[in-house]
Amino acid sequence: MNDALGRPLRDLRISVTDRCNLRCVYCMPKAVFGRDFVFLERDQLLTFEEIARVVRVMSAAGAHKVRLTGGEPLLRRDLPALVSMLSAVPGIGDLAMTTNGALLTREMAKSLAAAGLRRITISVDSLDDDVFRRVNDVDFPLARVLAAIDAAKEAGLMPIKIDMVVVRGLNESSIVGVARHFRETGHIVRFIEYMDVGNTNGWRMEDVVSGAEMRDAIGREWPLVPAEPNYFGEVAQRWCYADGAGEIGIITSVTQPFCGSCTRARLSAAGELYTCLFAGKGRDLRSLLRNGSTDAEISAAIGAVWSARDDRYSEIRSAATAGLKKVEMSHIGG
Ligand code: SAM
Ligand code: SF4
Ligand code: SF4
Repeated sequence: MNDALGRPLRDLRISVTDRCNLRCVYCMPKAVFGRDFVFLERDQLLTFEEIARVVRVMSAAGAHKVRLTGGEPLLRRDLPALVSMLSAVPGIGDLAMTTNGALLTREMAKSLAAAGLRRITISVDSLDDDVFRRVNDVDFPLARVLAAIDAAKEAGLMPIKIDMVVVRGLNESSIVGVARHFRETGHIVRFIEYMDVGNTNGWRMEDVVSGAEMRDAIGREWPLVPAEPNYFGEVAQRWCYADGAGEIGIITSVTQPFCGSCTRARLSAAGELYTCLFAGKGRDLRSLLRNGSTDAEISAAIGAVWSARDDRYSEIRSAATAGLKKVEMSHIGG
C-alpha cells in the first residue's frame, strides 16, 4: 500500500497514553502541562484489544514494525499484556518501545522481554545529574534511569538504544559526556535534533543544534567513520568510532529531512491515525472500532488515509509552516 508520494506503510508507532511522569521542557512544558491540564479519560483511550485489532489490520496492509510510546508508555497499567497480544500478531517482525525508564524496574524489564518485546529505546538527555534534572523539570535523578538501562540489559533487550535530544543552551554541553559514557557498552546513542513538534514548546530555529555540529563535537574526541544504513528508510545516519568502540546515530530531522523515505503511521492514545508527526488532525479510528465496523471497513478507512498521504512537513518547514496548528508529541507519540 503506497501513499500519494509512493511511500509504503511499514511502521506503526502507538501512543498508549498521553500522560507522563516527567515534564521535559522541550516536550511537555510545565506551564502548559500543569495541574489543570486535561488529559484523556480512561474510556477515551483505546483498550488493549482495540489496539491489537488495529495492529492486525495494519499488519495485513503491510506494516511490520510496531513501537510503543507515549507520553510515558510504562504509565499504562499491565503493559506486558499488550506486548504479548501484539507479539502474537502475524507479520509483526519487530516490536519495540521508547521509554524514559523511570518505571523500568528489573521485574518490568523481564516481564516485557518475556512478553515478546524485542527492542527498547531509553531517553537520556545528559550524564550530568544537574542538567538531567533541569531537562526533566521534576527533579528526577539520572541514577534511576541508568539503573533502568542495566535492568533492560539484564533482561536481554540488547542492543539498547539511547535517545538524546539536544537543545542549545540546555544540554548541548552534555553531548560528549553521553557519547563517552556509552562507548564500548554496545548501546547505541542517537543524537536527535530538537524539532518543532506541537505548538507549546517555544521552539526556535536558533535552539536547534545541527547534526553536523553534534558529529563534529564527538568526532573531535574520537574520530568517526560513516556506516551504511541497516535498511531503507532508517532515520538515523550511522557513524562508527574509528577505534572500534561502537556506533552512534545522528537524527537530522530539521537540517536534513528524510520525508522521502518516511514509512511511518502513528496511532494516538485516543485512536486517531496520523500520517505525520507534524499533522494537525488525525483520522478517528476509535469510533469505527466501537460502532461495529468490520475489519474490512477499518482497513478501507486506513487505506483511504494512507493512499491520500502527501505529508512532507520537514522538507517544507518555513516561516509559512510556523503558525500551523500541530498535534503535541505526548499525544501522538514520539
Ligand atoms: N516518554 C518516552 C520517552 O521520553 O522516551 C516516550 C515518548 S517521547 C515523546 C519519545 C521521544 O521523543 C523521546 O526520546 C523524546 O526525547 C523525543 N522528543 C520529545 N519532544 C521532542 C522534540 N521537540 N524534538 C525532538 N525529540 C523530541
Ligand atoms: Fe515525557 Fe518523554 Fe515527553 Fe519527556 S520526552 S515529557 S519523558 S513524553
Ligand atoms: Fe515523516 Fe512528517 Fe517527519 Fe516528514 S515530517 S519524516 S513525513 S513524520
